[in-house]
Amino acid sequence: MKLQTKFLAILFPLVVVPLLLIALVSRHYFEEMVATTTDQQSKILTDQLAWSINVGNSQALDLVDEITRYPSLKAAFSVINEQPQALQSAIETFQHLHPKLHGVEIASAEGITLAQAGISDLTTTPSNNLTNQPEVSSVGNHFYLTTATHANVSTEPQHGYTIKAVVKLDQLESLIENMRRKAHIILLLLNNNNQVLSGDQSIFDLLKTLTIQNNKLIQWQGNRYILNTQPLAQNLKMLSLTPTLNLESSSEALYSKLSYIMILAGLISIVVLHRGVASLITNPLKNFHLQTRNIINGDFNTLKPLRRADEVGELSRSFESMRAHLQDTSHQVEELAYFDTLTGLPNKVSFIDTIQHLIEKSQVSGHQVAILFFDLDNFKHINDGLGHEVGDSLLMQVSSRLKECIRSNDVLTKSNHIALHEADSMIARLGGDEFTLVLSKIDSPDQATKVAGRILKRLSMPFQLEDNQVFISASIGISIFPKDGRTPEALLKNADTAMYAAKSSGKNVSRFYDSKMNKPMLERIELEASMRSALTNNEFILYYQPKVPLFGAPRFEFETLMRWQHPEKGMISPGIFIPLAEDSGYIQNLGDWAIEQTCKQIEHWNSRGIKNITVSTNLSPVQLNYGNPLQTIKRCLASHDMEPQQLEIEITESGLMQNEKHAITVLNDIKALGVRIALDDFGTGYSSLAYLLKFPIDTLKIDRTFIRDIETNHESLKVLELIIGLAKSLNLHVVAEGVETKEQLDMLQIRECDYIQGFYFAKPCEPEQSMAFFERYFEEQTHSMVAVN
Ligand code: C2E
Ligand code: CA
Ligand code: CA
Repeated sequence: MKLQTKFLAILFPLVVVPLLLIALVSRHYFEEMVATTTDQQSKILTDQLAWSINVGNSQALDLVDEITRYPSLKAAFSVINEQPQALQSAIETFQHLHPKLHGVEIASAEGITLAQAGISDLTTTPSNNLTNQPEVSSVGNHFYLTTATHANVSTEPQHGYTIKAVVKLDQLESLIENMRRKAHIILLLLNNNNQVLSGDQSIFDLLKTLTIQNNKLIQWQGNRYILNTQPLAQNLKMLSLTPTLNLESSSEALYSKLSYIMILAGLISIVVLHRGVASLITNPLKNFHLQTRNIINGDFNTLKPLRRADEVGELSRSFESMRAHLQDTSHQVEELAYFDTLTGLPNKVSFIDTIQHLIEKSQVSGHQVAILFFDLDNFKHINDGLGHEVGDSLLMQVSSRLKECIRSNDVLTKSNHIALHEADSMIARLGGDEFTLVLSKIDSPDQATKVAGRILKRLSMPFQLEDNQVFISASIGISIFPKDGRTPEALLKNADTAMYAAKSSGKNVSRFYDSKMNKPMLERIELEASMRSALTNNEFILYYQPKVPLFGAPRFEFETLMRWQHPEKGMISPGIFIPLAEDSGYIQNLGDWAIEQTCKQIEHWNSRGIKNITVSTNLSPVQLNYGNPLQTIKRCLASHDMEPQQLEIEITESGLMQNEKHAITVLNDIKALGVRIALDDFGTGYSSLAYLLKFPIDTLKIDRTFIRDIETNHESLKVLELIIGLAKSLNLHVVAEGVETKEQLDMLQIRECDYIQGFYFAKPCEPEQSMAFFERYFEEQTHSMVAVN
């Protein structure tokens, strides 16, 4: 049952029952009132009747008085003994003269009638038994009043007479008739002997069977009457039967009015209750129901809370705070579902959604859509080496730089996520160090390249992580809709492949997706997997390449270069597997192994009595910045019979740059052990003089790109000369890499380059082969010197 119906079911009786009670009580009062009224009416009736009798009585008395004073009658009395007829004729004359006098009788004191005129057949009290009270009697339909008075009519006072006068009670008659006709009141007049003087004998017969009492309800001839009895005169009483018809119709009228009032009150109460309950309770409840449904459907923009001071108002306010709380929670859930908690950027779910949306839009507009997939080079090492908090801070900085590279209205964050479907572009974080960008409304892929370039440039600026200034780079892969895929998933996958290709091709670049990229990608994944067991399977070996000293006493100097003898793929170049090892973090193990192997070889040569040896080994930037090379070197120096200066580590400028402060500390510590430090590939990076001063460097290795064209390129030669001059002034050893020709050698020799490394002398090969080269070389040198001498 609905609440409103329930309320009505409860409240309706509360209205109707009092109304019924009112009706009953008023009926009771009404009946009492009717009884009183009937009583009063009957009293008035009695009074009227009594009055009419009194009027008759005084008439009769007046007539008697007149008789006593009637001269003819007096005269007749005086001669009563002599002429008794004279009295008779006098009285007849008197009666004749007074028509109101209906009858008259003069009797002696003994009660003997002396004269009589008019009616004489009235049954009256005998004259000797008079009470001085009038008597009412009836003849046919007429009423008569008889008054008897003792009077001295004669001059002889010893003789008293009784004069009886009878008058007709016309007024009484007409009153009774009126009652009967107009008020339908049945009247019975009874004398003391309960003889019915007037009225229906059958009613009296009925009444005789009942106890007579006032206000009694009597049923007669199918009608109901109220009985009333009152004495009228000494020998007369009245019984009145007032029909209840009037009373009943009045009470019926009252009842029907009451019923109307009750129905009206009931209806009004229903309407009022309906309205009241609706506005106070059910409407607010319906609203709550509606709002709850809206909330369930995700619509939190509901109505204002009710400003009421009652419980519903309180409920409404509680409801409002619950709604607000739910809205917050829902936003949080939404944020968790669609946004990256760390950076506040949209996550993969929103990104895929947006690509889909932009693809659909582009199909209409005919534009292209570009997906840029970028991954931070070396992020893994920052995270592992410097801790997750630092990693998080870097990601946040990266995210804000990315936002700066894109038009502000394309940057979507938690705060403006409503615009998720309105953006033309979007930056998202897929997880880890993988960020993505979608650009729509582009006319050519060049526009994507420009944005990629802008991002790479922006990311190449140093990042401040706690006390460290860190340099990172990124690799960006780009896929284009519709050329490279028609679904968000395919486009993302292909952009990812392109990103790996960019990484392999030297990092800090962007590459467009090409279907041919999938093959190297698979190979790379395969290779990465097989690398994990390569070290334990002894698949790695170190080759040694001689660095030939051009001046001074013979010295055996080498650079170790790693090779991977893959059981299926054969010899794999470090150019392929070192970046893989760096990306996966495997480089730490591999680097440690290389240092260990190098020291082992030095110890071996030492044991053979060859002491003037220096072997340099390459230290990956990843290992320098995020590993613990100091500990490894310390351990190796301690466990092998060798001098610290017999070991040299080669580091690149880019390796130093990534986390300068940390690098300086680590290199100083290594240097403090006595180990030498070489700056590799000098000239390819920033070639910063500041580095040469800041870092504890012993050797400068000029990159082979400078050597390659010194014969033809004057500029290169100039740079070479400058570098050599600089190194000399800083007291550094200079090594020229990639020397392949006699001409290159000569030019370097003239410019007093200390060491020559290159295919001209020897390719990297097994240590003993390299050592054999040196032995041969120095022998030849000695021979040629001897020959010269
Ligand atoms: P790098 O340190 O600059 O090594 C010199 C590279 O130049 C070597 O290539 C060497 O074979 C090559 N080379 C030497 N002389 C000549 C020449 O006359 N002509 C030409 N064309 N090339 C010459 P490789 O062995 O392929 O190594 C490539 C790079 O791999 C190295 O460059 C180094 O950065 C890295 N690498 C090699 N071994 C290791 C290692 O054990 N640890 C680390 N971290 N990196 C390594
Ligand atoms: Ca090197
Ligand atoms: Ca080099």
